[in-house]
Amino acid sequence: MITITQQRDKCIGCNYCVEAAPGRWRMSKRDGRSVLIDAKNRRGFWTVKVGDEEGAANEKAAALCPVKIIKLKDL
Ligand code: SF4
Repeated sequence: MITITQQRDKCIGCNYCVEAAPGRWRMSKRDGRSVLIDAKNRRGFWTVKVGDEEGAANEKAAALCPVKIIKLKDL
């Protein structure tokens, strides 16, 4: 398992995470920021646990994010 976290209020809406891992990210039409699918908000840090098979795509999303607000942690 992997934990993915996004500090959502710092998102600049560049869409890179959606391109890297479209199964886990989408853009919000409401505020133009990306949404980490199925994540829960804890004081601005949106977090979800996912299977290892999502690791590679989300590592790429984290590496591409220009504001470095996507973090991955192995469980
Ligand atoms: S890559 Fe980072 S800044 Fe760009 S949309 Fe995703 S979370 Fe937001």
